[in-house]
Amino acid sequence: MEVAGDHFDVIIIGAGIMGSCTAYEAAKRGLNVLLLEQFDFLHHLGSSHGESRTIRYTYPEPYYVPMVIESFRLWEEAESEIGYRVITKTPHFDLGPACNKSLQSVISSCNSHSIDVRVLNESQVSEKFGCSFEMPEGWIGLATEGGVIKPTKAVAMFQALAIKRGAVLRDHEEAVDIKKADDGNGVVVSTVNGRRFRGNKCVVTAGAWTRKLVKTAARLDLPIQPHPAASHSRLLLENQRKL
Ligand SMILES: Cc1cc2nc3c(=O)[nH]c(=O)nc-3n(C[C@H](O)[C@H](O)[C@H](O)COP(=O)(O)OP(=O)(O)OC[C@H]3O[C@@H](n4cnc5c(N)ncnc54)[C@H](O)[C@@H]3O)c2cc1C
Repeated sequence: MEVAGDHFDVIIIGAGIMGSCTAYEAAKRGLNVLLLEQFDFLHHLGSSHGESRTIRYTYPEPYYVPMVIESFRLWEEAESEIGYRVITKTPHFDLGPACNKSLQSVISSCNSHSIDVRVLNESQVSEKFGCSFEMPEGWIGLATEGGVIKPTKAVAMFQALAIKRGAVLRDHEEAVDIKKADDGNGVVVSTVNGRRFRGNKCVVTAGAWTRKLVKTAARLDLPIQPHPAASHSRLLLENQRKL
């Protein structure tokens, strides 16, 4: 059964940080938005809850830095609309072998986007932290700016802002199917409760459940696997191999 009147410009599936800020950004652009969540809003089963996440410029991939610059601007915009803070700017520090390729790429990514990155040797690091800091031989420290985000508070903020901008938010509404509408205009999203919503577009922000949703909606078993913060784990592994 299709629910009459439930026609949206955008249907977003998954209300973690990605889906919640997508809902806000789409609603801010004047779109008629529906955000669906399978569990309670602000549940603790996904990736976006808790007390802290870092935000930093120090990625080896050069395309990250402009995105971080833009996201700092968007965080500030959302904070000024809601009237409280979810992000605290802090100094940020990375370290590793001077010859490490990822670390070298981090330095050039920052330099090419005019991010203030200071490369420190062992005594400069000790001086900076006001105590003796022992680093393995040949290692350097990188001092930049970064920040700490409160994730649960941030998700709640984006959901509140999305509602304020007219978005419709529904929890306990697991999407189980996404089909092209019969008339060819947009999609129909069906939920576990037997509801059907029409959307001109559908954005899937289902996090670690993406494989499950694709499997039920498209009968495709894609080899999608949740992965820990890729670049930093890689750097850590490279460093461990060198020690
Ligand atoms: C312990 C930890 C530490 C981290 N530290 C950092 C850090 O310091 N800095 C950083 O930048 N990143 C960090 N990350 C990564 C970051 O937290 C994640 O990239 C981000 O939270 C992912 O958000 P998401 O919205 O994609 O996924 P999720 O938060 O998992 O949201 C997906 C949502 O979709 C819902 N959903 C799934 N399927 C359906 C369906 N069929 N119908 C309806 N709803 C559905 C789920 O219930 C869930 O609420 C960390 C992650 C973890 C776990």
